[in-house]
Amino acid sequence: MLKQKIEGIKSESLEKIKKSASERELYDIKVKYLGRNGSLTKILKNLKNLSPEKRRVAGPVANQVRRDIKEACQNKKKELAEQVDWEKEKIDVTLPGRKTETGHLHPITLVQRDIEKIFTSMGFKIADGPEIESDWYNFTALNFPQDHPARDMQDTFWVKNNKEKFVLRTHTSPVQVRFMKENKPPLKVIIPGRVFRNEATDATHEHTLHQFEALVVGDDVSVGHFKYIVQEFFTQFFSKETKIRLRPCYFPFTEPSFEFDINCTVCNGKGCPSCKGGGWLEIGGAGMVSQNVFAVAGYPKNKYQGFAWGFGLERLAMMKYKINDIRLFHGGDLRFIQQF
Ligand SMILES: [Zn+2]
Repeated sequence: MLKQKIEGIKSESLEKIKKSASERELYDIKVKYLGRNGSLTKILKNLKNLSPEKRRVAGPVANQVRRDIKEACQNKKKELAEQVDWEKEKIDVTLPGRKTETGHLHPITLVQRDIEKIFTSMGFKIADGPEIESDWYNFTALNFPQDHPARDMQDTFWVKNNKEKFVLRTHTSPVQVRFMKENKPPLKVIIPGRVFRNEATDATHEHTLHQFEALVVGDDVSVGHFKYIVQEFFTQFFSKETKIRLRPCYFPFTEPSFEFDINCTVCNGKGCPSCKGGGWLEIGGAGMVSQNVFAVAGYPKNKYQGFAWGFGLERLAMMKYKINDIRLFHGGDLRFIQQF
């Protein structure tokens, strides 16, 4: 009786395995017979309750059927894996290719690369420095005395440290000192980089921005050289003849100091809404390097002359691409970024 039942299970299960069309189906069949509560499992578990004679007959048969089902499952599984679905595999060679998404450069990077290209073509080196800067390099070395009100012009973020005071650098000028300590004049270098200010943000103010500055030091470097290089740079950068104008100003690390304007790139100096009718656009600050800064760098006093000047990359990018809000640069809005 039991032997017949086992034979019944065998033929029924093998038939089902043969007809199964997926791995999932195959798995369910296996569970139905060989699972924890499978019909064959139940018989195998019950063998110990049978009389020795019955057990001697049923035992080997049940175990053999168990092996047969397992083997049939394995073979079927292999067969299913090798089957190719020709419908799915069909290739339509007339379909257009999938477009690969390519990245592109941020407008600030584009402007920085433009600047670097123009200056390296004029023989300038490019220097870099740390964004977390010591109080000494950021202020003291640049002739900002402790408690001098000029420090308030550059309020920034402080980094706690027990030994020395650190700040997120407020300008790229500390790199001037670092570079001069390592290099002797004559020298021509530009320093592009990220700077920080503790600033309430609006359309023209950001807490994180990019600056660029240039430093030229030699035996007889004058404001005349400065004017020539600035004019040459902007003429190349905007691809049109550009004039510059200087206005007196104050910076601790240069004397004399001035701010400089370029003639309006929109109206060429005639006067328009972009330049508020004046014909000039404010660009940045400049000046002849203070002898005190040279002294800090280890140069003998009154031996060399040099000028430094700088401006914000955001401001230049805003002019070049006609962008009206500085916060767009770091806002992460793809509608803005994807236009470049
Ligand atoms: Zn104008």
